Amino acid sequence: MLEFANKRNLKSIARWLLRRQTWSPFDRAPVEFAQLNFDFHPDAVTDWLLAADFKAERRLTVSHFRLPFFKRLLPLPLLVGMDSLAQWTGGLWQLTPSVFVRARATGTDEATPAGALWRCPACGNFDLRSGLDGLTCTECQRLWACRDGIYDFRDAPA
Ligand SMILES: [Zn+2]
Repeated sequence: MLEFANKRNLKSIARWLLRRQTWSPFDRAPVEFAQLNFDFHPDAVTDWLLAADFKAERRLTVSHFRLPFFKRLLPLPLLVGMDSLAQWTGGLWQLTPSVFVRARATGTDEATPAGALWRCPACGNFDLRSGLDGLTCTECQRLWACRDGIYDFRDAPA
């Protein structure tokens, strides 16, 4: 299950048509609207999933009525109900600021062993032991730190 911020939403299309934003919502390149915060084109996400051996299945679009205009005019329970109905159109088009995609792995890689949650990025071992400082790989003995409850698999300690 994947959720991403959709750059091709109705608000960005309107802003682009009115020349109030420089980047095109139809261009497939991601746009970084704030540092390390990106909006993505739905077709680019589908292509990246395919390249990683995933097949995109169901798409749900959410936050159809995020605009302040709707929030001022309509009561919140009605907006939530309307959004619940409209999200099923996600398979037809994706024009909302947020999109959920259910994708299924189609590759021929080995299956993850039952009960495995983590995989060592350095050696590929599935057996990582949880400790006070993080996760330790039982194969290569690397410690993958946990800071403030967040595991850090970017740095490869020796
Ligand atoms: Zn390892």
